Amino acid sequence: MPPDPALIKTCIHCGFCLPTCPTYVVWGEEMDSPRGRIVLMREAAETGGGLGSIVTHIDRCLGCMACVTACPSGVRYDALIEQMRPEVERRHTRTPADRAFRRFCFEVFTHPGRLRALVPLLVAGRRLGLDERLRGWLERQSGPEGRRRFRRLAAMLRLTPDVALSAAWRRLPERTRAPAAAGPFRGTVGLLQGCVARVFFARTNEATVRVLSAEGFDVVVPKAAGCCGALLMHSGVEAEAQQRARALIGAFEGCETVAVNAAGCGSAMKEYGRLLADDPEWAERAEAFAAKVADVTEVLARVEPRAARHPVPLTVAYHDACHLAHAQGVRAEPRSVLAGIPGLTVVQPAEWEICCGSAGLYNMLEPEPAAELGRRKVANLAATGAAAVVAGNPGCALQITVHSDRRLPVYHPVEVLDASITGRSLP
Ligand code: SF4
Ligand code: SF4
Repeated sequence: MPPDPALIKTCIHCGFCLPTCPTYVVWGEEMDSPRGRIVLMREAAETGGGLGSIVTHIDRCLGCMACVTACPSGVRYDALIEQMRPEVERRHTRTPADRAFRRFCFEVFTHPGRLRALVPLLVAGRRLGLDERLRGWLERQSGPEGRRRFRRLAAMLRLTPDVALSAAWRRLPERTRAPAAAGPFRGTVGLLQGCVARVFFARTNEATVRVLSAEGFDVVVPKAAGCCGALLMHSGVEAEAQQRARALIGAFEGCETVAVNAAGCGSAMKEYGRLLADDPEWAERAEAFAAKVADVTEVLARVEPRAARHPVPLTVAYHDACHLAHAQGVRAEPRSVLAGIPGLTVVQPAEWEICCGSAGLYNMLEPEPAAELGRRKVANLAATGAAAVVAGNPGCALQITVHSDRRLPVYHPVEVLDASITGRSLP
């Protein structure tokens, strides 16, 4: 469906959303603001055929949804942009290089098996310094006039996380039972491992399983649960996103709750009802599934803590991941989980509502504005004086790590809680 004219009309052009829009903050251009983009969506709806320069401004939107939080009129920009992205893919022909880069990202980042196969190469490349040399070469090719494909590849290399060889074979158990010491059984939670996360952030997934079981839940990690389709959905690749959604719904059949520790995945899964609304066979199941999805901090905040907490004497800056804070409205829960950890001080950076520039594939597709936002975010986080950052999204963790030149350690809230429950030090 193209963007809904009734939703477009709800914008009264007041401009309250402008100061929270990262692209407006960077460029100060009306067409790179939520208000401007809504006008462009109206133009696209009123005219047929190609979309011309409208595509540039839609592509530059991070989908951070800060405008949804800021809008006093309740404009559903989230629904509008999710309708507009597939419209772009239907009505616009991308250059072969652009298509190839996007396809490469989908074929690699949404397939954990392929990512695992790359691990030995990445480890060897880093040990031999080949990644740095290749990145340097790519950056030199880009030149002052800038050649998009090289800049994008250089950004991808820069964002590749440090990974241990063990990531190639590390697996979570399919079921982890709550120990008897955790008290009366609290239910079974299905855990989404993510694609990039299960390979590059295995320690977060392992901490999630330990914390949930220590709090009295059985944790199920179905083998059949693959990619949630978030990257595809947020890029307008609708049919493939729908396929992934159907498969994931089937894989988690029987779980009362589906916990997610990656904000981007969680927000996409909570949107499955909308994604499959036109599919008579799946619409109802998708709605029911979306209602079971919860960020892991939501699951933990709903219950009284049971496991004993040891002190974690550390000051951390809490970074609100956009897909958690704006897209899901989850701000209180991670803070309440962290507040239960003795010795931990949590501080808030300035401009919490402005995106760090990660936004799924954005920091590879649009490397320059993403880097500017990354540096701005790191400056705000560093200004708090905190020794580490806590963020509930692997993409944000990578972006902050890279733009702090790997000086600011970034932890997921469950990793800090796991350190408190197990009494182990944070890595
Ligand atoms: S999206 Fe909301 S805040 Fe922004 S201009 Fe429209 S009505 Fe105003
Ligand atoms: S989603 Fe984010 S980047 Fe896009 S218009 Fe809204 S505030 Fe701006």
